[in-house]
This record gives sequence, C-alpha cells and structure tokens, in this order.
Amino acid sequence: MTSLSTHPTVTVIPGDGIGPECVNAAIDIVNAVGVDISWEERHAGERIFEAGVASGVPEDTIESINRTRLVLKGPLGTPVGYGEKSANVTLRKLFETYANIRPVRELPGVTTRYSGSGIDLVVVRENVEDLYAGIEHMQTPGVAQCLKLISRKGCDKIVRLAFEFARSEDRRSVACATKSNIMKLTEGEMKRSFERIAPEYPEIESWHVIIDNCAHQLVKKPEQFDVIVTTNMNGDIISDLTSALVGGLGFAPSANLGSDVAIFEAVHGSAPKYAGRNVINPTAVILSAVMMLKHLGEFDAAETVEHAVLSTLQQGTLTGDVVGYDLGVSTTEYTKAIIANLGARVDGYTVRRARHVQIPPAPRDPVTVRPASREIVGADIFVETGQYPEQLGPVLEDLAVGSPLKLKMISNRGTKVYPDGNKNIDVVDQYRCRFVRRDATQPVGLADVRDMIGRVEARYQWCHIELLQHFDDQPGYTKAQGED
Ligand code: NAP
Repeated sequence: MTSLSTHPTVTVIPGDGIGPECVNAAIDIVNAVGVDISWEERHAGERIFEAGVASGVPEDTIESINRTRLVLKGPLGTPVGYGEKSANVTLRKLFETYANIRPVRELPGVTTRYSGSGIDLVVVRENVEDLYAGIEHMQTPGVAQCLKLISRKGCDKIVRLAFEFARSEDRRSVACATKSNIMKLTEGEMKRSFERIAPEYPEIESWHVIIDNCAHQLVKKPEQFDVIVTTNMNGDIISDLTSALVGGLGFAPSANLGSDVAIFEAVHGSAPKYAGRNVINPTAVILSAVMMLKHLGEFDAAETVEHAVLSTLQQGTLTGDVVGYDLGVSTTEYTKAIIANLGARVDGYTVRRARHVQIPPAPRDPVTVRPASREIVGADIFVETGQYPEQLGPVLEDLAVGSPLKLKMISNRGTKVYPDGNKNIDVVDQYRCRFVRRDATQPVGLADVRDMIGRVEARYQWCHIELLQHFDDQPGYTKAQGED
C-alpha cells in the first residue's frame, strides 16, 4: 500500500485533448493549498502511440509509477487506426488497480432536475475482470464471443474494498448490484462474495439490487443509494449515469486503487473538440486530486480544496458546460476563483471528513478456492455447421456410439434445439453440443473427452470446448434454456 510520505512524489500524466488544461488547474490548486508534493511529469496516450509504442505507455512512465506509486492523470485519447489497446486500460491492468471509485454528489449552484434531493453516492466498480478482460474470438465467421471472466478472488477484493471505503467515510450502506438472476455463476460470484463479506461490517447496512432495477432506481430516487459495488461493465455504465445526475462528466472524479498503486483521474475523456480553448470544466480532475490528497492522508488540505470548489460553484462561478459556452467563465478564471476561495467554507453543504481507506491485503496465491471433491462429467463441444438441428443431432448420436459419453442436447445461442427443441428458434451456424456420462455411476476423464472431440472432428469443425465439472458435488455449469 502507498506509504504516507511527508514529501511525496506524484507521477503526472497531462494526457490528451483537454487533459493538460484540467491537470494544470488541479496542480495549481494543490500547490496553492500548500501540500508539499514533487510532480514528476511523464507521458502516455496519443503522442506515445504516434511515436510507435503500441501500448501507448512508454518504459519511463512505467518506471516512474513503479517508484512513486501515485498518479494524477488527464484523459488519454484512444486513436482509431493505430495502437492496439487503450492506454488507459493498459495502465489500470499494468498496476492491477482493481477498484475504480467514482463518487458523485449534489453541487451548489449546479442546477439539475435532482437539485434538492441530496445525492451523495459512490460507485465502486471492479476494474480488471469481467467482459473488459477483452478476451474475444470469432467462433465462426458470423458468431463472436467475449468471455466474461469473474473470479472469487477478484470479487472478494472489490467487495472488501467497497466496505472499507464506506467505513473510511462513515457511510451508512453498501448495495451490491448484479445481474445474478440471469448470470448465476459469473454475476452470482459477486453476489455470493458480498453475502459472505458483508457480515464482517455489521455497522454498515448491506443489500442486493439487480443491476437493471439499480439503473431505474438511480433515475427515480438516487438519494436512496450510498455506496454501490458492482462488476466492471455494470459499473462503467451506471457511473456515467450517476455523473449525469449531478451535472455531467465535468464533475465526476475517480480513483483507481490497487494494493500498490493509485491512479487519480476524471471519469471523462479527452473531449478533443474543446482542447486548447480554455473553456472546459476542470472540476472532475480537481476533485480527483482531492481524492488523491485523502489517499495521502492530507485530510485538512482535501477538505479545504473541496470547500473552495463548492464555494466557487455556490457563488455562481460556472464553466460553459453548465451555463452555455457564451456565458461560462474560462478554465483559468475558474481555477483562480477556487484558489481565491481556499479557506472559505461552503454554506449549507457538508464535506465528508474521511479517514484513510484500509486497502485489504490480497492473497498472492493464485488458488483461493480448493474444493473437497471435483469430477469431470462431460463436455460442451461447440461446432460450426450450416446444418439444421434435426440433421446434426442424429449424426452426433451415431458418432458417440461406443463412447462413455453420449449426446444430451444441442443448443443454439443458449436455447435447446435438439432433441425436441424449440422450432421457433432462428438458428445460426454455431451449436453447443453437450455430451455427458452415459452411465452416471462411472467416472469419465480427459481422455474420454479427447476421444469425443476426435469423433466430432471427423465430421465437423469444432470451434470451442468447455469441460463440464462438478465441484463439491455441485454442477460448475448452467443448463441451456429448455434443458431438463
Ligand atoms: P469525452 O471526452 O468524455 O467527451 C464527451 C463529452 O462530454 C464532451 O463532448 C463534452 O460534452 C463532455 N465533457 C467531457 N469532459 C468535459 C469537461 N471536462 N468539461 C466540459 N464538458 C466535458 O468522451 P468521448 O468524446 O467519447 O472520448 C474522447 C476520447 O477520450 C476518446 O479517444 C476516448 O477513448 C477517450 N477517453 C479517455 C478516458 C480516460 O482517459 N480515462 C475516458 C473516456 C474516454 P458536450 O459535447 O455536450 O459539450
């Protein structure tokens, strides 16, 4: 965990587009409040892609972050047509910043349709797993797949961090938002972690909400939420929604936290059309710097800056995104007004007095779940074919004759189509063929699965394999829609 240093060094990445304007504003304010920080400027993003570094993150930036373990960054543009991955995602993954903390609160002077409701909530988004692991394949020329990987270790880490964050800010409740009603194994893993860990924090109310209802409730009655912990893609979507509740992306800060490194940045991107025009709203990066000050243990300075930002807004000093670009103050005028307000106290709004977030130590062991028993009970072999289910099924049954595995069913995009399949299904050229033990009392092994793959391969092109396993006598797979 980042040590609390009396003279910390922070790696600063100005970023692309509006990034440098926002980051300069935040640095000017932090310097003005009198916190003794050395800023070490490094780069990532567009100019690095242009220089031919495919990741968008050069070695000297990585070296700096490995040393300082603290980053204040502007948004990085993801160029279209060159460079392979987003430099942002690369940074988050390189330093295993597994938690993305995205707070929003009602702001004085920023009128929205929710003004007066007292919104003050935080989305804690898992930041490295889920569909954003980016493991995608074309299984056939016309059928794409993205693997949704969710680990118990990853869920335990993010759930614990959400509770620790809630505790550090004396927050009253943590809601876990998942789609576990449909994705019982993947999204369900997060729900089960939550139910296991919540009792360790008895002073904090805990409840589960299905993610689509969470979105509905956020629009209908956002003030009911305090901390929301959720999986990566859910969190990405609802945190953009929550930023819109309080005035938009210009006001949404974030912290990417890991066991070793913390990266503070706005939720917004590089908004290239406003770059260099001195008109954009730097509040999101300034409030990200406030989160950084809290992380450094500089709670008085953090409070002073937050009061100054809220006072400035309350006085009606507003940028163009709020009042229109013909009426708004410039980015530099806005920054000067905040600096002039350092020491002022906002009227009628509270600023949370935070404590240091205890980032829970993560076990280094890759294996965190050891079942007492496990057995292979079959395999799903995915094949590419233009045949209809009633043609494919009998052929596969014939191919399985003499094997300890038999064809149980075939599904197409998750719905059973053979035997006795739903005739209304509009099939595509990728089938999941489920082979299970012919005799449930007899064990089967990998050799039997390999033999079955060979038999299928004699007639069809397979494109994906999944083992069917039981852990502690519980199936480690789900049934197809319509499967008995
Ligand atoms: P964006 O840069 O967030 O901008 C979308 C819109 O949000 C802007 O056009 C503007 O709205 C508003 N906006 C964003 N920041 C603002 C600010 N500080 N002040 C006032 N208004 C602000 O999203 P994008 O256009 O989709 O993405 C642009 C680039 O940024 C892409 O290359 C993307 O990959 C990258 N990106 C980077 C990060 C990151 O570094 N973490 C995050 C997201 C996107 P109006 O047009 O309505 O005025």
